[in-house]
Amino acid sequence: MPDDPDPSASRRFFWLRGAPAPRRQTLRRRYDALVIGGGLAGCSAALHLAAGGARAALLEGDRLAAGASGRNTGMLVAGYAPGPGQLLERFGAERAAISWQISLDAMALVHELTQRYGIDCALARSGSLYAAWDAEDMDEFADELAARRAIGAGGELLDRAALQRRVQAPHLHGALFSPEDGMLNPAALVRGMADAAAACGADIREGARVTEVEEDAGLVRARYRSGQDEGELIAGHVILATNAYA
Ligand SMILES: Cc1cc2nc3c(=O)[nH]c(=O)nc-3n(C[C@H](O)[C@H](O)[C@H](O)COP(=O)(O)OP(=O)(O)OC[C@H]3O[C@@H](n4cnc5c(N)ncnc54)[C@H](O)[C@@H]3O)c2cc1C
Repeated sequence: MPDDPDPSASRRFFWLRGAPAPRRQTLRRRYDALVIGGGLAGCSAALHLAAGGARAALLEGDRLAAGASGRNTGMLVAGYAPGPGQLLERFGAERAAISWQISLDAMALVHELTQRYGIDCALARSGSLYAAWDAEDMDEFADELAARRAIGAGGELLDRAALQRRVQAPHLHGALFSPEDGMLNPAALVRGMADAAAACGADIREGARVTEVEEDAGLVRARYRSGQDEGELIAGHVILATNAYA
């Protein structure tokens, strides 16, 4: 990509291909809130803070979405790593249903934010297919569908013929269709939220790694390194959105 503003990022991560030049906004000395980390969590936090009227700064040590948010599969799926059956078993129908609904609310928030702020992240509500390689998988999916129904979640079991009408995959036995799911470009969502946060007044600096955070008389004092420069800022609150990196 000859006119790529940041070829180093593109070389590293597929989703960062075509990423714009880094944001290097001038930072003030004092903020209501400091967000450390520019992934999905950090950019969403900065957006919600700034949209709510707080004076917010976001410092990202690398590029926006350089962490898990720019390296993931881009699936927007209902539920959690433990499936509906495990949720049901561990928490009972009522609480499992609430937790499932929370995941649907999170997905709805993504749709709402992309619409409200005009974020183009190739979001598609396509549904997803959990593929069954054999009859045993289909039995498991039948159990999962029963668990889904028990907690008010959607789903449809597709036998081989029904699956073939949707995708050309003759080697598969069937599938479980999960209707609410979809796909998106996660780095574009991160950048879109950062753009929206900046438009709401947040200051965003990429390439600014926070090296120290300490409490000081009820405030937070943070030091950061940005290229050869070092800086310090003070905030009323800090949000650590660094994932497992710090
Ligand atoms: C391989 C893989 C596939 C996945 N697939 C999916 C999927 O399909 N669907 C899904 O919903 N989830 C998926 N996930 C999970 C999802 O990507 C993460 O839950 C999500 O991206 C976490 O976002 P985050 O903002 O918390 O962290 P991150 O995106 O990791 O952001 C943390 C940021 O903090 C920055 N940082 C760290 N330390 C400092 C510091 N001292 N100063 C400044 N900045 C700092 C990092 O550079 C980084 O950019 C997947 C994860 C992986 C790893």
